[in-house]
Amino acid sequence: MHEPRRRLRTFLSLAFVAVVTSCDSSAQATPAVNAPPPPAVVSNAFLAISDVHLDNRTGWSQYGADTGTGLWHTAQKELGALISTTKPTFVIYVGDLPRHSTGSHSVTPTERAGDVKDVLQGLRTTVGSAGPPLFYVPGNNDSIEGDYGPFTSDSTDPKTGDPWGTPFEQDPGQGWPLINGDASCSGSTRACLLSGGSSKHGYYSAYPLGSQGGLRLIVMNTVMFTSGYFGSDQSTVAADQLTWVGQQLADAADATPPEAVLLAMHVPPGLDAHSHGTQGPDDDLKTTWSSSLDVKGKWGSSTASTESILDAFLATVYPHTQKTIRGVITAHTHMDGFYTWLDGNGVLKEVAVSIPAVTPGHDNNPAIKLITYDVTNFEFLDYRTYFAPNPQSSFGKIPYSFRHDSNRHEATLFDCVSAMSTAERAAVVRSQYLVHTQYVFKHHPPDWNKISEAIVVEPGL
Ligand SMILES: [Zn+2]
Repeated sequence: MHEPRRRLRTFLSLAFVAVVTSCDSSAQATPAVNAPPPPAVVSNAFLAISDVHLDNRTGWSQYGADTGTGLWHTAQKELGALISTTKPTFVIYVGDLPRHSTGSHSVTPTERAGDVKDVLQGLRTTVGSAGPPLFYVPGNNDSIEGDYGPFTSDSTDPKTGDPWGTPFEQDPGQGWPLINGDASCSGSTRACLLSGGSSKHGYYSAYPLGSQGGLRLIVMNTVMFTSGYFGSDQSTVAADQLTWVGQQLADAADATPPEAVLLAMHVPPGLDAHSHGTQGPDDDLKTTWSSSLDVKGKWGSSTASTESILDAFLATVYPHTQKTIRGVITAHTHMDGFYTWLDGNGVLKEVAVSIPAVTPGHDNNPAIKLITYDVTNFEFLDYRTYFAPNPQSSFGKIPYSFRHDSNRHEATLFDCVSAMSTAERAAVVRSQYLVHTQYVFKHHPPDWNKISEAIVVEPGL
């Protein structure tokens, strides 16, 4: 899929040179009325923000702790400023709203509901009713019932006696998971939700640029793919979601004209870079998704050889990568960087971009990410990270970008990563992983071998 685009770009470049040359040789001539478009790719951008983990009891924040109200205020200010200056076509929140339990305190559902309400309301009012569409992706902390709980909770609020329901019921009547859009695409001229997902489980699809915009957003709830998930009928609901994803991808590919897909999820597939060490330094990394979750015979195009949730997922999406799927975003690690999704032969199939956290809980700096894409096909071109140099500071630091840190100049983000060696990929992630903080390098030096290993996602993990 990349060759024709390169040829087109080369053609446009040559056409541009020809026009410039002809103008130079006849400086007094009237400028051409129907001049060809400039050769540069016309891009647009969306903003991604994730993992606020608000602890609304505390003011300021520190490394290793959740977001206090001071940092949350600073992050909202930065988000508002970035919406004004970068004019994103949409904003997406990639999951995890409330504080974590700590060793001394287990968060109650009432406390979790309070944090969830504050973050949903804060996001909504920061974007503003005249602002861009705002989407939400389910995170593992967002079930009011508890970490890795079901998206819709049947347990009851002791104050009202009613079930907690979904996180959205803490900010009722606002249209979540889409703010500044329509609940149905029928007759809609702006961002809209497509039916077909299951609101009970939090996954859905949408048209962020409107039903004629050519871009379908598929939001997954990958919390139900993890070993920590405690909702009921896990293998059935996981397989149902996978079948639904396969159908969404087929619908996008079969549309006239074909639609591009942006895939968003909170818990990424692959290896957890922080899961080793309990049995010693030679421990194998654990998978982020459950390695024992068996969906054999339960999902869409199931075959006998693909039954782990990871293999079933990769078998579902790989036929669509670099054709229908034009970008993937994930969160959960709280770290910057990207993943390389490979096939069984080690060939790069997709690049998944990691959205860093607002919370400095993993000793990272608070950050918000801007992703630019080609307006003609929605393929990711670059990303830029805006960050605060410490949890008490404003986001004053000059942002850094994938292109700058990798020094690559291929047409798309995928082309850039494709052209890099495994070592070069790890080096870029290393430079971005901790959002350029000096604190962590000094106090908690990470295990770079494990992190380099965790960049690679392939079947059979
Ligand atoms: Zn988180």
